[in-house]
Amino acid sequence: MDNYDVIIIGGGLAGLTCAVHLANAGYNVLLLERNTYPHHKVCGEYVSNEILPYLEQLKLSLPDTVSIDTLQLSTRNGELLQTKLPLGGFGISRFAFDHTLYQKAIAVGAIVHFETVNNIVFLEDRFVVRTEKEKEYSAKIVIGAYGKRSGLDKQLNRGFISKPSPWLGVKAHYLMPDFPDNLVALHNFEGGYGGLSKTESGAVNFCYLASYKSFRTQKNIEKFNSNVVSGNKHLNYFLKNARPLFDEPISIAQVSFGQKDIVEDHILMCGDTAGLIHPLCGNGMAMAIHSAKIASERVDTYFKNKDYGRMEMEKDYTKAWKQAFKRRMQTGRILQYILLQPATSNFLMQTVSKSPGLIRSLIKRTHGKPISI
Ligand SMILES: Cc1cc2nc3c(=O)[nH]c(=O)nc-3n(C[C@H](O)[C@H](O)[C@H](O)COP(=O)(O)OP(=O)(O)OC[C@H]3O[C@@H](n4cnc5c(N)ncnc54)[C@H](O)[C@@H]3O)c2cc1C
Repeated sequence: MDNYDVIIIGGGLAGLTCAVHLANAGYNVLLLERNTYPHHKVCGEYVSNEILPYLEQLKLSLPDTVSIDTLQLSTRNGELLQTKLPLGGFGISRFAFDHTLYQKAIAVGAIVHFETVNNIVFLEDRFVVRTEKEKEYSAKIVIGAYGKRSGLDKQLNRGFISKPSPWLGVKAHYLMPDFPDNLVALHNFEGGYGGLSKTESGAVNFCYLASYKSFRTQKNIEKFNSNVVSGNKHLNYFLKNARPLFDEPISIAQVSFGQKDIVEDHILMCGDTAGLIHPLCGNGMAMAIHSAKIASERVDTYFKNKDYGRMEMEKDYTKAWKQAFKRRMQTGRILQYILLQPATSNFLMQTVSKSPGLIRSLIKRTHGKPISI
């Protein structure tokens, strides 16, 4: 069996960032990812600037991204408001972002295998990780960064997995030359909302989250787009005038916002595996990368300091994760609830449109400050 210091399960933003951080620090790192790179992913592709200092520390150079400083919001009846984003962000496709991180991880010495993990066992202070190719790997530390939902959550008997997840995510790229570079727009429709923003290729990403209750009223994505999503006049205009660049939109089912434990059976959970913030906050990617930093720093201390045992590392990681993200998760939950109720959503929009300060304060409550290095 191959032995490693650290095994990371899942090579999205959280897992790849851990791989870069820990391989940079000289550890023997194996990352197991089920898909090869590059690949598209359902995601809004607006990234908060808060992670830039950390990406610089990791010496990660991204392809030319699109700088975004303005937010547009509309209710389902089309009422629109616009405001400057306090910190701003950038647009980059997951196709390019994940692939760049993957190349960096390889360059700094992380080993990447394209295998699906189906079993993790912790025994006598070590982990044994098994994959569908019937291979076994062992490590002192395992980081779980396998995203929102996986068969592994069942194996680990995680509480949220038995609860219903009534959300669906859909995404595709479009050509719409007159869409402003500096804008991220969030438009509400019956039972969901969709985000529009440009990516590094010039394509506009349209990604939405919809409840099954609303989606079930239609036969497929095409009908849902024309009959429900287009109920918002801004989205109607977009879908009528933009040229699709994908053969078909990609989608994910059973998106869960349930509460999760940060450490499960001694596995340090990272990114969406530890908790998914509501996408309307546009902060999940920054949180995934930030949580990778928090986890990697604890793992580094664990290996370097004999007085900092496993229990202490687990407690410390849980505390630091909650300190960094708990308040944003709660605010995101409340905002999503309010935005999806027609009466409260119109009331909220009317209130915030009279007070741009209020909307900036709501944005700040769902985002972090630039990560301190
Ligand atoms: C509709 C929608 C829109 C969003 N829009 C935005 C946005 O605009 N801005 C933003 O910041 N965030 C947004 N988010 C959130 C963002 O997409 C996530 O927070 C982010 O992708 C989390 O990264 P991650 O690395 O934790 O997980 P992922 O990127 O999902 O990576 C997990 C990886 O694990 C792999 N994997 C899974 N199971 C296994 C296994 N058993 N073995 C091996 N590999 C496995 C998967 O293939 C995947 O590559 C959005 C989310 C949704 C649902």
